[in-house]
Amino acid sequence: MFALAKVFVEQYELFAFNEPYKNELEIIKVWHTMPAAKLRRFKELTEFVLQDLDEPTNVASRAKHSRSLREQGNQVYKTKSKKSGNDLTECLLSASRLYTQAILEAENAYEELCLGFANRAMALQDFGYYEQAYDDCECALEFGYPKNMQHKLIMRQAYCAWKLGDAQKLGEHVACLEQLELNASFTQQLEQLQQELQLLQSNPQAEEVKEAKLDEVKRNNTEISTDAGGRGRYMIASQRIKEGEIVFTEQAECFVPTQGRLICQQCAASLLCAPIPCTRCHQRVVYCSRRCRQLHATIHGYECEAYRRDLLLPIGPFHLALRLVLTYMPQWLPQLRNGGSTAAELWQTLISIASAEHHWPTAPQHTQSLCMMHHLDKADASKLIYCVLSANQLQVYLYKCTNFYDQLLASTAASAEDWHLLLAALIARTNNQLLNNAHVGDAILPRDLGFNEFVLLRPQLWRAPFRLRLGCLHKFDRTTLVKSLNLPYYGLCNHACEPSLRSWYDGRSVSSYAARNIEPGEEIFNCYTLNYKMSSFAKRKEQLEQTFNFQCSCSKCVRAEPDQDYFAFHRYRCQHCEQIFVPAQLAELSWWQEPEPPQICCTVCQAPQDFSWHEEFLVLCACCDKPNARHEAYKVLDYLRNWLLDYHSLRQCLAKKLILACLTAKAAGHPFEDTEFGHLGRIMEYVLAGTEAQIGSNAVEYIPIMGCLFDLIAWGKYKCSKQRLAKMRAKLDYLAGETRRIFVNYYNDFIEPHYSS
Ligand SMILES: [Zn+2]
Ligand SMILES: [Zn+2]
Ligand SMILES: [Zn+2]
Ligand SMILES: [Zn+2]
Repeated sequence: MFALAKVFVEQYELFAFNEPYKNELEIIKVWHTMPAAKLRRFKELTEFVLQDLDEPTNVASRAKHSRSLREQGNQVYKTKSKKSGNDLTECLLSASRLYTQAILEAENAYEELCLGFANRAMALQDFGYYEQAYDDCECALEFGYPKNMQHKLIMRQAYCAWKLGDAQKLGEHVACLEQLELNASFTQQLEQLQQELQLLQSNPQAEEVKEAKLDEVKRNNTEISTDAGGRGRYMIASQRIKEGEIVFTEQAECFVPTQGRLICQQCAASLLCAPIPCTRCHQRVVYCSRRCRQLHATIHGYECEAYRRDLLLPIGPFHLALRLVLTYMPQWLPQLRNGGSTAAELWQTLISIASAEHHWPTAPQHTQSLCMMHHLDKADASKLIYCVLSANQLQVYLYKCTNFYDQLLASTAASAEDWHLLLAALIARTNNQLLNNAHVGDAILPRDLGFNEFVLLRPQLWRAPFRLRLGCLHKFDRTTLVKSLNLPYYGLCNHACEPSLRSWYDGRSVSSYAARNIEPGEEIFNCYTLNYKMSSFAKRKEQLEQTFNFQCSCSKCVRAEPDQDYFAFHRYRCQHCEQIFVPAQLAELSWWQEPEPPQICCTVCQAPQDFSWHEEFLVLCACCDKPNARHEAYKVLDYLRNWLLDYHSLRQCLAKKLILACLTAKAAGHPFEDTEFGHLGRIMEYVLAGTEAQIGSNAVEYIPIMGCLFDLIAWGKYKCSKQRLAKMRAKLDYLAGETRRIFVNYYNDFIEPHYSS
């Protein structure tokens, strides 16, 4: 990372650029016409980065680390025979977690890698993750599991195939085992599996009804208008859309995980219980399954060496631009075949596609992506140069370290020299489009989840696959950004500070629902910042100008008092004159988040306010395992209602802290009096109502707090009306499939029983 930054600084100095912006290709050409000596130095530096960043693997030390972790896993696994219930699941998950670390650590120490996979398969199978255990066996075999022990893995695969009801696979493995000489115990296991196979064949299980996937894109409710007068394209409702109805869905053909996060690179799943890493690129890439690894093989083939060199982390947002170009090039190339033989001609061909008229709702994503807006013409020179340097670095990387150029040279009449220019220009252009158009997708995860930690393997959380223990739903306590996606159709929505949409991400897909009733012909808006109730006009203005180069003129921003709705969440009663006030300075509104909080004074009588209780409250939250501290905290929060009015941001924030601290203490086994649940229930209802007032009850942010209330209901200590419960249950249907599965199981296991009688 250091190397790249240093190189860019030196290259920046070589690169005299003082012409007005024309287009990306023209900028790239400028440096190709540098004086020869400078150009040589420039190229040296580019290649130096590629060599300097290459980290060779020390196989012996990898193997040692991996072996030690696997042996720790074995120690844990061995104790399983003495355990049952939650202790047993804890043992199996602890072992799986250690085996997973052993697999990641092994990298290309294949001997250790295949043993790690084989052992994880055993623990996962015991726990009930049969698909993953099956895949792990396959991986162990792929990476050279010793021949004389392979029958064990085949037996395991046969068992998993049986559990999964897959007669075909079970048949194949049984046939294979029948050819081998087995000892008495294995022969007995084989006989059992032969019987199961017969049963399975005579009673074929009903085809499992696969959940309807969002593969099919829904856009009947919208159309795109184009205004030649300068407004560009925008989305309008083609018919009446009622609140909560789907406005459109879109599935991204390319996305990248948020910096350093280990989610499946193919399907964007964020809940992995058996991550399968690429063995070459130093634990930076994982998949949820072998199938996903295979589907992603072509793209990863171009990126693996970049991951290996850690080239993608320092270039940040350029990674998505790179991936977009890698993904769409095979679709662009046929259009470039007869589009000329020089960089300039090919560039012109691409630009003419971008400026042509398209039918937006049905245009393919590779065409939509070429057409995305960008504001490079408004960027200053240093931004332009940085952009060009990064794009060039990636282009050289593709040329030197991958076979990406083969298809370029085979499909067009242009030379490698031309492609150096064109590819760098294309990456630069794409990156600038994405700065305005890329979307970030979230997932509901525990707040304290480490980057290389997998929540499904947390030992004390689960009692069966995707089934949480009682009182543990609150662990999924926040929405976390996990991926950046290219969603060009979604990108056509203009900004307003009061969005018309609530968007929910699921893997590569986004589904946008109407936040309120939308009339036919009405424009549909997305909000690129925090909404007008959650942020000040000045803050939004700054963000929109800096990142998106425009000034918002939405109905909320052009009002005489654009901050009135934001201030509604910051109303105090003066401790001295008892009048209501909002602090005078914007910077004072979130004083409790400041490292050195300013003194807040009443704007009516100027008296300074005493917030010494704030620190004390935080101390109480840290001691919630003690009943006295909890009772004191309930009291303080109750008292605050007189001074922090309505859904005051600080009161909501403290209420959330207290809820999580109490639920953590309760889940850890600390006893609670029955009366306390009444307090907790009221506090949760308060936070839910506040979230509804500020963001809406069908926003994803509502779910984690609802999860806390579900824990309370699950303990049988709190009851809301059946009607209310049904409303909350309905919200689970918005969730991403993997998360929905966990929440719905929890609902069925622990909530429903309290209401069915
Ligand atoms: Zn996947
Ligand atoms: Zn790799
Ligand atoms: Zn606005
Ligand atoms: Zn006052």
